[in-house]
Amino acid sequence: MDGIKTDKLESSLLIVILDTNPVWWGKKKIAQDPMTLSHCVDCLTVLANSHLMVSHNNKLAVIAAHTDISTFLYPSSQPARPDIFKLPDDGQYEVFNSVESQLRTQLKTLIEADKAQVDYMEEQSSDSLLAGAMCMALCYIHRLEKECPIGESLTARILILKGSDDCPSQYMNFMNAVFTAQKQNVVIDACILDSESGLLQQACDITGGTYLNIPQAQGLLQYLLWVFLPDPSSRSKMALPPRAQVDYRAACFCHRNLIEIGYVCSVCLSIYCSFSPICSTCQTTFKIIGPQKLVKKKIKKP
Ligand SMILES: [Zn+2]
Ligand SMILES: [Zn+2]
Repeated sequence: MDGIKTDKLESSLLIVILDTNPVWWGKKKIAQDPMTLSHCVDCLTVLANSHLMVSHNNKLAVIAAHTDISTFLYPSSQPARPDIFKLPDDGQYEVFNSVESQLRTQLKTLIEADKAQVDYMEEQSSDSLLAGAMCMALCYIHRLEKECPIGESLTARILILKGSDDCPSQYMNFMNAVFTAQKQNVVIDACILDSESGLLQQACDITGGTYLNIPQAQGLLQYLLWVFLPDPSSRSKMALPPRAQVDYRAACFCHRNLIEIGYVCSVCLSIYCSFSPICSTCQTTFKIIGPQKLVKKKIKKP
């Protein structure tokens, strides 16, 4: 049977999760930071188009992690809006045009819905629904894997572009998503635009992805193209920034604070920052073994 090559058709799926938290991006705009949402989306579009250009079989999805909703920006079922959609320039690849117009259309719809909501809500939460967006990405990967024709193989990875702070209240959902990704062989990469994220450090470390807190906002496009465009399999051949130290703190189940030392339920492994006689997760009652009896015995002996 020599001479017969059965090369599998390989396609690579890149899912980008963009943190569109209006509170964080709003702060950046007030501070007149060079990092604006539109700059970020421009860089993201270039990365997305480059990924599609690397191979004809490559696939792309972009998900927005917002404060109250996670939604697909690309591919989307809604048609591009005529006020944002521009006709393809001469010679522009139609797919590139469709990526750009859909991203912008969906983002504008999202921001407009936000504006309408601000009138009702005085204060918006500053958290992004990252865990929800990750679950949507994992479901999408699962679906594409199922739809993948025989003889084709699909590798998937998730890139998270995040600016806002960590949200320990999503700790459980977040870690569940991370372990699911690990089981599905999905690599999670993180590109951090602001303060370090302990949760994403753990996610990248567990799934074998790259974690990078970009030192300069102006260089976002360079970092995206040099660090996050290559497939994880070819990264070992490249000189990439050294691995970040991982902050392995866990969030307590009672207050969702990140703690270094805490109490662990011996039955269900729930974590608590202070001792409680009943585990609130599995309802196990713990007997308090006090030192009083021993002390009394010692006193009685002499
Ligand atoms: Zn606590
Ligand atoms: Zn328990």
